[in-house]
Amino acid sequence: MTRTDTTSCGVHGAPAAGGPGGRIVIVGAGWAGLAAAWEISRRSAGGEGHGRPEIWLVERAPRPGGRAFSFRDRATGLELDNGQHVLLGCCDQFVHFLQEIGLGAAVRFQDLLDIPVFAGGRWERLASARLPGPLHLLRLLTQYRHLSLADRWRLLRVVRPLQRPDHRQRDNMSFADWLALQGQSARAVERLWDLVGVAVLNGRADQVSAGLALESFRIGVISGWRAARLGYLTIPLGYAARAAAEALQARGVHVLFHQAVDEVLVESGRVKGVRIRRGPTLEADAVVAAVPHDALYKLLPPAWRLHEAFAQSARLAWSPILNVYLLYDQPVFHEEVAAFCGGVVQFVFNRGRLLGEPDLDGRWLSVSLSAAGGLRNWPAAKVIDRVDEELRRTFPRPASGARCLHAATVWQPRATFLAAPGTWRLRPPPKSPVSGLFLAGDWTDTGWPACLEGAVRSGRRAAEALDQWFRERQGGGERFWASRS
Ligand SMILES: Cc1cc2nc3c(=O)[nH]c(=O)nc-3n(C[C@H](O)[C@H](O)[C@H](O)COP(=O)(O)OP(=O)(O)OC[C@H]3O[C@@H](n4cnc5c(N)ncnc54)[C@H](O)[C@@H]3O)c2cc1C
Repeated sequence: MTRTDTTSCGVHGAPAAGGPGGRIVIVGAGWAGLAAAWEISRRSAGGEGHGRPEIWLVERAPRPGGRAFSFRDRATGLELDNGQHVLLGCCDQFVHFLQEIGLGAAVRFQDLLDIPVFAGGRWERLASARLPGPLHLLRLLTQYRHLSLADRWRLLRVVRPLQRPDHRQRDNMSFADWLALQGQSARAVERLWDLVGVAVLNGRADQVSAGLALESFRIGVISGWRAARLGYLTIPLGYAARAAAEALQARGVHVLFHQAVDEVLVESGRVKGVRIRRGPTLEADAVVAAVPHDALYKLLPPAWRLHEAFAQSARLAWSPILNVYLLYDQPVFHEEVAAFCGGVVQFVFNRGRLLGEPDLDGRWLSVSLSAAGGLRNWPAAKVIDRVDEELRRTFPRPASGARCLHAATVWQPRATFLAAPGTWRLRPPPKSPVSGLFLAGDWTDTGWPACLEGAVRSGRRAAEALDQWFRERQGGGERFWASRS
């Protein structure tokens, strides 16, 4: 296996930028940075020898993956993700990236959307049918009895508006206000719109922009049965990110961990390279900053921080996610996934089954609590007790005396940006006002909520913009790379 922890090697011996193909530095090896590096290396592959740039991926942490990582729980030896990551069938570019790095088999989708939902003491299923969109959601109207008949009937009012292609103009309004205008009841918000929306947007309807919420429902729910299926990685998140970093190294990309970039160097409006903390300057012809929005702000020279394009995105706020892991002495949960309304628990995943561990099927559970700001001051023990108590109400009878052998919480205060009303215009395009500096990250203007798919899309778009910029600068010339799109 290729070693990915290259620590500081390479930087000190790095030649000044200006090798035959120049040098491109990508800062941040989250999924946006990994995808940017992959796409740049793919596009530059045609420029063998003379035109091929050196590509450097520089990451502060000791591992790739950014906000999607895993770690070994010391008490159990189990590999825990920092939070259960769920895909939708519409996440095609993330899945395509996994396929390209040889991990196509590590993602599994439901045949059709199917989520058991527990509310008011009973179960109903949120399920779709194999019909063209939006007819695939007919079962919602006929069978989802967590909503009254009148509430289900009123869902028809939103189908048309949801199908419109660009919801940007509704960005200043909250999703809750928009839903109220369409006659959606508080119960429909709780048992349908927030049930899905909080998981997708990491914010409640009253916290998030109608524009981004509608766009997310359009892409991921209403467009068709394929897009609306849930998908999961069948390996821990960290393994997938490591495989991506190894695939990049196999392509000749220099991957550095434990190397924090302190500053993106800019001279006369043009990027010159990056300065590495306690290390040298890495000169570069172009830089892709694939770091979170607040980290980008700190990397910029002070004069550039005031530039509108950067100052705007620094106004994005964070929204937390809390994940609770529970290990029981016997199977207590027989589904793959389930959603809960009316309590603290939102989504429960059968982690044992998803990772293909038969001994842990139904016993090892991962519970996601998105938009978890209200739990910020809860001690871990209180969260665990509450989650355990809510889950127990649904345990099948033979498991009612099940013992919880181990529990752990993972608190991620900076899980995703908060897609508050008015934030769409704060999300920048990939090409920045600094010549040669490109931006990637789930928070950039992808039209998607903060997610793995958005991160990968942003990385690819940054690589496309960089390619275009090189071509324009060189007048189609030969110094950099012969592009292959
Ligand atoms: C608990 C949790 C649950 C989630 N659930 C889901 C889900 O179900 N589905 C889904 O699709 N998404 C989910 N997400 C969101 C998803 O993880 C993110 O959208 C995605 O990982 C963001 O990737 P990114 O590359 O844009 O940013 P990041 O992952 O933040 O990557 C940025 C990288 O830049 C590095 N960096 C920062 N500063 C510097 C510096 N100065 N020098 C060098 N490197 C630097 C960081 O260390 C990091 O590795 C979840 C996130 C969390 C936290």
